[in-house]
Amino acid sequence: MLNIRGLTTCYGTINAIKGIDIDVPQGSIVSLLGANGAGKTTTMKSLVGLLKPQAGQIKFQGQEIQGLAPHKIVNLGISLVPEGRNILSGMTVFENLEMGAYQRKDKEIEADFKKVFKRFPILEERKQQLGGTLSGGQQQMLAIGRALMARPKLLLLDEPSMGLAPLVVADIFRVIQEINQDGTTILLVEQNVRQALKIADSAYVLETGKIVLHGSADEIASNPRVKEAYLGGA
Ligand code: ATP
Repeated sequence: MLNIRGLTTCYGTINAIKGIDIDVPQGSIVSLLGANGAGKTTTMKSLVGLLKPQAGQIKFQGQEIQGLAPHKIVNLGISLVPEGRNILSGMTVFENLEMGAYQRKDKEIEADFKKVFKRFPILEERKQQLGGTLSGGQQQMLAIGRALMARPKLLLLDEPSMGLAPLVVADIFRVIQEINQDGTTILLVEQNVRQALKIADSAYVLETGKIVLHGSADEIASNPRVKEAYLGGA
């Protein structure tokens, strides 16, 4: 569904990603792993047009999308849940969700509100509350709900479990699996490597802007280098 070849993105003279190749098959969960500063967020931003790649090709459902404006990429069916969530804290939960559908002109937005509220009942309970008053976990649910309002075929999640308590993290991973089972393909950036590999089909390891390993989630989880560097040597 998504095929990335030779993707290279720089900040001025800093070359943050250096010719990476990633494939995300339709229906799968693919995990992108790596330490702080490896280039994971840069990759995600490049995919949705927030950063302009210097070189390489990004094909989504066979169509080249590198260099397209972000709203065009959303319209094609890719949504990003950004690192740090970017909830509008002075707007209500309902308004935050509406923002996710702002590109749409179809008449099925009501039905999608219902779907999001069914998946996240807490958001329906709190729909008139300001986004900033939600807990961290609820804000993450809201960020995911907002992305779903754009009806993505491919959902990009940048560190969805960051800063959340273990029980809430388990909830987030369960929700990601459910969204995938309902037919949405997922590219997941995570520092919680153990949990990410449990739900992923395949995984890529990024180090200083380069893919150093890729394979099935089981292969990556049993790789000695991954165990040592990301799984506490277990
Ligand atoms: P983290 O989990 O900390 O966000 P990451 O793997 O997502 O890490 P990136 O944020 O993509 O890493 O950063 C990759 C490299 O690009 C790092 O060396 C970082 O310092 C650099 N970088 C990121 N954003 C900028 C920026 N706006 N300007 C200059 N350099 C940047």
